[in-house]
Parts: sequence; structure tokens; C-alpha cells
Amino acid sequence: MEMKHFASQIIREIVIISLICAPGCSRRKEPVKETWLAMGTFAAITVADQDCEYLDKYASTARDLMRELENSLSVFKPDSEVSRINQSAGQCPVPVSDYTREVLELTRKYVEISGGCFDPTIAPLVQLWGFNGGTVPDESLDETSVRSLLRCIGYGHLVLSGDSAYLDTPDMQLDLGGIAKGYAVDVCYRKLMEMKAENVMINLGGNIRCHGMSRGNKPWKVGVRNPFDPHSIIGTISLTEGMAVATSGNYERFVTIGNKRYAHIIDPRTGYPVRDMAGVTVISTSAVEADAMSTALFVLSIEEGGKVLSLMPQCHALFIPDKQPLRIWVTHGFAQHFTPEPNLANHIFELTTCYPNQDPHCAGGQPQ
Ligand code: AMP
Ligand code: MG
Repeated sequence: MEMKHFASQIIREIVIISLICAPGCSRRKEPVKETWLAMGTFAAITVADQDCEYLDKYASTARDLMRELENSLSVFKPDSEVSRINQSAGQCPVPVSDYTREVLELTRKYVEISGGCFDPTIAPLVQLWGFNGGTVPDESLDETSVRSLLRCIGYGHLVLSGDSAYLDTPDMQLDLGGIAKGYAVDVCYRKLMEMKAENVMINLGGNIRCHGMSRGNKPWKVGVRNPFDPHSIIGTISLTEGMAVATSGNYERFVTIGNKRYAHIIDPRTGYPVRDMAGVTVISTSAVEADAMSTALFVLSIEEGGKVLSLMPQCHALFIPDKQPLRIWVTHGFAQHFTPEPNLANHIFELTTCYPNQDPHCAGGQPQ
């Protein structure tokens, strides 16, 4: 894992989980949790107190699955399937496992629904801006250099056929950093459901999915970090059966060029890091969707994001623009699951979305 990302991931992990967990089986009626490092971040399985005897079994299953997925999907591992697809760009198709094929197929939906604002072929630009092994540029980086890399971006150049994947243009690269962790959480979730797990929460770097109930038969709860203060949360989300949550934030990974901070999420329309958003949290029915859509909506911003959300009734979002005074925009569906911190109640604004497939009078969304 990359050490420079480690500290921010620790903060994210500490803040996002608002549960108090006791180690091992106890009589304290509190959830019990096992954590480890996976895919460059923290992973955790938490089970309700009454299921604590299963914790080790669930955690070791999840640990093995996450390791297998990391070996296939990581751009930091030169032998991973994704790295081999990148090395073979413009040359030849590469055989891929069912997991890699599935995540690449799922990715297409989010590329399409976001109008290309979510696009894992963004990798060359992620590196140009100094992330994922790239060298941080200095202030002389000009628009021509940035724009010249836009020709390497486009998910349409990924050819999936049978059990192989192929980037049809040299210099193209995939980076599944915006979706792979959510996908891994869903793979673990499916496996734990097969094992008949009853009350469990899976967390991989803040990509979370829950089943059953937490302490005292209450829903699982997670805190949403205040992007302007790593030590505080803006509120708490209650997750009902099978629901997932993910957050994309400008505080997670960033570089400083001159005296300006640039976040790790790049707008494929311009080639530049997104600058006006501090954080986006998404609740949905799968972790892969929450992960992909939090990244996509971070790029799309509030108005266009609201239009896209109008097509996705199962997907609810919270947006925090990167400006003062603090304003927290939530869709109606998000508000149903969210309890803001009492001192922030005046900072919450509801974002109007309208679902054309549920309301025939709806013209296609009315974001504010
Ligand atoms: P997340 O923290 O899930 O929002 O993912 C951010 C990561 O996704 C970045 O560190 C990049 O590896 C990758 N990424 C950056 N910009 C984009 C984009 N526009 N579409 C897809 N992935 C991206
Ligand atoms: Mg994401």
C-alpha cells in the first residue's frame, strides 16, 4: 500500500464508523469487530453481539476474498489483471477472471449514466496530476499538456468479449480506484449471505454494506465525516437491510501545486481535478453503485448530479460544496436515512429530485 495515503485512510476509517466495538465475545451487548489492511486501506467486519462466535469465520472469508480481488484489480500490483490489460493496451486482449469481467461490465452502467463523468480510463490523467505513482507536477503544467491526454480517455475503447478484456488504443490505462472497493464489499456481502450471516456490517475504506441489525436490534449506523474538520461528523446515517454507503471526499487524497490543493478525482471533460466539491456521500442498494456514484456525482456536481439521480430512485445522495458557509445538500431519500448533528440542522438543504418513471408529470428532475 502507498504510505502517503495511509494517514488519510486511517482518519477516514476512524471517523466514519460511529459504532463502539468491543474486541472478542463479551457480555457487553456491543457489536464486535475485526480489522485488517486490504486494497490500500482498512477493512473491517462487524457483527452484532449475539453473533460474535462467527466473527472470525466471516472476517477470514472476507480477508481472503479481498486479497483475491486486490490481486486482480489493483493498479499497484504489476501482475494484476488490470495491470496486464494496461500493459497490453493497443496490442492484444488479456484473459480475465469472472470478478474482473463482472466489475468491468458493471462499470459500463455508471460511465453511461454519468455521461462519462465516471470513467476508469482516467488513469493517465490521475498520474499526470501526481497520484497513483505519478510525479506531482509543478506550476508550469499547462492546459495543452492536460488536454493532450484527453485523447487517451474513453471507456468505449475497452473491448470486453468472452473472458478477455482489451484496451484498443496504445497509452490507454484503466484505474478502478473509484469502484473496486465497493465491488469487493458486494462480493464479500454475497458470500456472507451464502454463509447465512445474520447481522453483519462490511467496511472497506468507508465503502460499507450492512445486513440485519446492530446493537439492541437497531439499524446499523455510520457517521458522515465533516470534510472541513477531520475530528467531527456532520450526522449519522441509519442503514436498513442490504443498504450500502460510500463517500468521495477532496480531503482523502490531494496534492499541493503552488499554493493550491488538487483532489484525486479528475473531471474527464476537462482533464482537471474537481475543485468545487468537498464531499459526496451516496446510499444505495449495492456497494458498487454507492462507490461508483459517489465518485460520479463528485464530478457532476449538484445540478447535473440531481438530474442523474432522477433516473435512479434507489440512489440517494448528500453533497457538500467546497465553500463557506457550510451547506449540506441532501436528496429527499437521503434525508429519510440521515440525522444531522443538532448544531448543523440549519445547514441542511433539500435537493429536489423528480423521478420520471414514478411520476408521469415529471419532466426529468428539478435540481436546485
Ligand atoms: P473514490 O474515492 O471512490 O471517489 O475514488 C477516487 C479514485 O477513483 C481516484 O483516486 C482515482 O483512482 C479514480 N478516479 C479519479 N477520477 C475518476 C473519474 N472521473 N472516474 C472514475 N475514477 C476516477
Ligand atoms: Mg468511488
